[in-house]
Amino acid sequence: MVLPLVDQHRPKCHLCNRTFESVEKMRQHQEADHKDFVDFHKKREPAPGDVTVF
Ligand SMILES: [Zn+2]
Repeated sequence: MVLPLVDQHRPKCHLCNRTFESVEKMRQHQEADHKDFVDFHKKREPAPGDVTVF
């Protein structure tokens, strides 16, 4: 039995320290188990009062 040496290169959920086979699987996990966190980070709209001038 050979342990996977690529383990440290796998995407890791920094919220619960679990590793996943792919980024896609990690995202699915986060959307399922850390939905509040994901929703929070999806909102990239500027906060009220945060005026951006172009
Ligand atoms: Zn997690």
